[in-house]
Amino acid sequence: MKTLLKNARLLTMDEHVPDCENGWLTVEKGRITALGPGPEPEGADEIVDCRGGLLLPGFVNTHCHAAMVPFRTLGDDCADRLRRFLFPLEQEAWTRELSFLGTKYAAAEMLLSGITTAADMYYYEDAAADAFVEMGLRSCPGETVICQKAPGSDTPEEALTRSEALLRRWAGSEWVRPLIAPHGTTTVTEEYLQKCMALAEKYDTLLTLHACEMDDEMRHFAERGQTPVSFLDSLGLCGPRLLAVHGIHLTESDIALMADRGARIATCPASNMKAGKGIAPIRDAERAGIAWGLGTDGPSSGNTLSMFDQMRLFAVGQKTRYHDRRLFPAREIVRAATRGGARALGMEDAGALVPGFRADLTLVSVDRPSLFPLWDPYSALVYGAGAADVSLVMTGGVIRVREGKLTGADLSSLRRDLEAVLVPFRCAAEKYRDVLS
Ligand SMILES: [Zn+2]
Repeated sequence: MKTLLKNARLLTMDEHVPDCENGWLTVEKGRITALGPGPEPEGADEIVDCRGGLLLPGFVNTHCHAAMVPFRTLGDDCADRLRRFLFPLEQEAWTRELSFLGTKYAAAEMLLSGITTAADMYYYEDAAADAFVEMGLRSCPGETVICQKAPGSDTPEEALTRSEALLRRWAGSEWVRPLIAPHGTTTVTEEYLQKCMALAEKYDTLLTLHACEMDDEMRHFAERGQTPVSFLDSLGLCGPRLLAVHGIHLTESDIALMADRGARIATCPASNMKAGKGIAPIRDAERAGIAWGLGTDGPSSGNTLSMFDQMRLFAVGQKTRYHDRRLFPAREIVRAATRGGARALGMEDAGALVPGFRADLTLVSVDRPSLFPLWDPYSALVYGAGAADVSLVMTGGVIRVREGKLTGADLSSLRRDLEAVLVPFRCAAEKYRDVLS
């Protein structure tokens, strides 16, 4: 099966493969086989007319809690909601079924906004992995390891067992590449952080956790004369396997240490700014050569699972933090949302339009009023476009979204399925009305 996408503006994200205004691209066996300007090749089994839209690599979401859809808009403005009702509600009412159906819904939302790969951490990630596969979204799922009773695991030991089972089950898969996901620097003991790292090493995968995010986390380490990064380093966790999420309060010496150790960062601007937590010093991380990518965080943290929102908020956040309009030109941000994210997740053959790379593609229509004229297509993507402009999405050479609609699933059925299992969760949530209002 050979697919030809023609009449597209190609944004390749690769310095050796030039962008072109009226280009074509071919896909075979899940990989990009050729692309360029000029005459289109013959012999395609399927031809897609891109009608002048922007064809770019699919977005790579480096941090998410996909299944948390039922929490969306619940207590958005409530202080310390993590401990006041998120943890209690999860312990009381979260189920495997919610993980499966919540992840399916989230995967649909991500595909519809042009995301083709997502790193995920939550509970019952075996069910989440199944949901991602069913929907055709590439994933890096990690079972959350936390030192308190949690959905699916009464103890962190059980969560580790679940993590290992996930790694074994998906060994060698192109679609599911599990990672190890301890919750955070203060919610997991030193012993279990080290056990997590031992597992990441045993299975040669990444370890991701929330770090340098919370005020109480920063106080906890400051009282001990440490930072979260120096603490992780003292345990042997700060290395090329580490994908630290948020990094809002990274210091200069943290950044130097992470760069030296080859650690990575996932930054989630929509979530961080909505919570009033701050803006991560990504300019400095970038200058130090740290691999970093953008993440949506969960549906209740950043509310949308759209990388367009992350790109725009990242841009305005960095420019404001450093009082410098020239920082992060739009092309660099689109690159971070695609190839940068792939690099942060250790995927070297994704995130760019290059022959041999995975055919994970997003086509953005430029028909809407805010996308004219197109002096700079990258600027249009960062500042003028949104999920509603995504017209076609392909993962592994298969078209998952066409004309802005899912090809293999129906969004309203996914919503109905999730709604049907939501009743006990809704009842449990009612108990927190007083906290939330
Ligand atoms: Zn998170």
